[in-house]
Amino acid sequence: MLFSKRVQEMLPSSTLALVELANKFRERGYDVISLAVGEPDFTTPHHVIDAACRAMYSGKTHYTPPTGIKELKEAIAEKYRNENGVDVTHKNVIVTPAKLAIFISVASFIDPGDEVLIPDPGWVSYREMIHFARGKPVGVRLDESKDYRLDIDDLVNKINFKTKALIINSPSNPTGAILKHEDIKAIRDVVMDFDLVLISDEIYEKIIYEGEHISPGVYDDLMHYTIIVNGFSKSYAMTGWRIGYLIAPNRFIPQLEKVQQHTISCAPSMAQYAALEAIKDHESVRKMVAEFRKRRDFVYEELSKIEGLHVKKPQGTFYIFPKYDYEIKSAMLAEELMRKKQVAITPGSAFGMYGENHFRISFATSLENLKEGIRRLREFLSEI
Ligand code: GLU
Repeated sequence: MLFSKRVQEMLPSSTLALVELANKFRERGYDVISLAVGEPDFTTPHHVIDAACRAMYSGKTHYTPPTGIKELKEAIAEKYRNENGVDVTHKNVIVTPAKLAIFISVASFIDPGDEVLIPDPGWVSYREMIHFARGKPVGVRLDESKDYRLDIDDLVNKINFKTKALIINSPSNPTGAILKHEDIKAIRDVVMDFDLVLISDEIYEKIIYEGEHISPGVYDDLMHYTIIVNGFSKSYAMTGWRIGYLIAPNRFIPQLEKVQQHTISCAPSMAQYAALEAIKDHESVRKMVAEFRKRRDFVYEELSKIEGLHVKKPQGTFYIFPKYDYEIKSAMLAEELMRKKQVAITPGSAFGMYGENHFRISFATSLENLKEGIRRLREFLSEI
């Protein structure tokens, strides 16, 4: 066979596949409501676009240093020092798309056979990236009855001599739950006792409705084991710019940087200048989050009224993850909903085995779409 085993075995991204499916139905003339992908419907703030244009017109269209332009790295380190209480400098930062930051982290630490603990349900790409590195993803259950908080006993039970790393994601895609101080403290003990690498995916950091975001990097001793991953896509409506970053202890940076050099070389120069502008803009984030909150409240209320659904109110992100009582697998439910009512949602099974009997709705779309999408969903559920 032409293709490598690792690529043949890789599953396509379900979140992205559903976007394609929705587009196909649209091309055929159907009126599709997409509640599938996690992408803000707002345009990138104009002053951010202007900053990128200015950079390009002034000739900033070349390679930058592999780890990024110094001004942006300094701004990122300053943000983490001031907003998150993490003691880092620009030397700890590599500017790179957030998805690639996770890939770089996995590629840098995982040897064939190594095990990586991941949240289950958890974002669809962690598993495939670990498989790609020939490692083994091991799901740690996030239980609905425990508000989708990481089950520390389950975590410890799943550690063995092959366990190399732990990935956490707070606020969580798809559950919207947030890790609390006590969770981070428990994680700290586990990571340090078992000498694990902690990858903390903080991409939804700014999209929070209740509680606060706590980065594990707040503990200096834990930061010694931690790679923080964050980016501009979700908070600043910049998905198309492919710009984010990782923050890691000095001892990790040279190895991580090699992977950056041999893959992307550097993040796009114009996107880096855009990010430098965005990182100072608290007002646009505040407005977008206020809008997301209205949508969250609406979606939560409406879904809670539907019989057979059990809904937890997300504390962050723009996802809601209802559990359902119907006798139908989530992949089939999503497919049928698309075929019969032209509404795209993401099946819970895409997020791991504990995601079965759930589905994810992204409310990063207009209230009008949400109203119509939920109306059709209710109709569909009443017919099964
Ligand atoms: N992270 C988003 C989602 O879960 C965007 C698609 C992706 O990267 O998976 O929908």
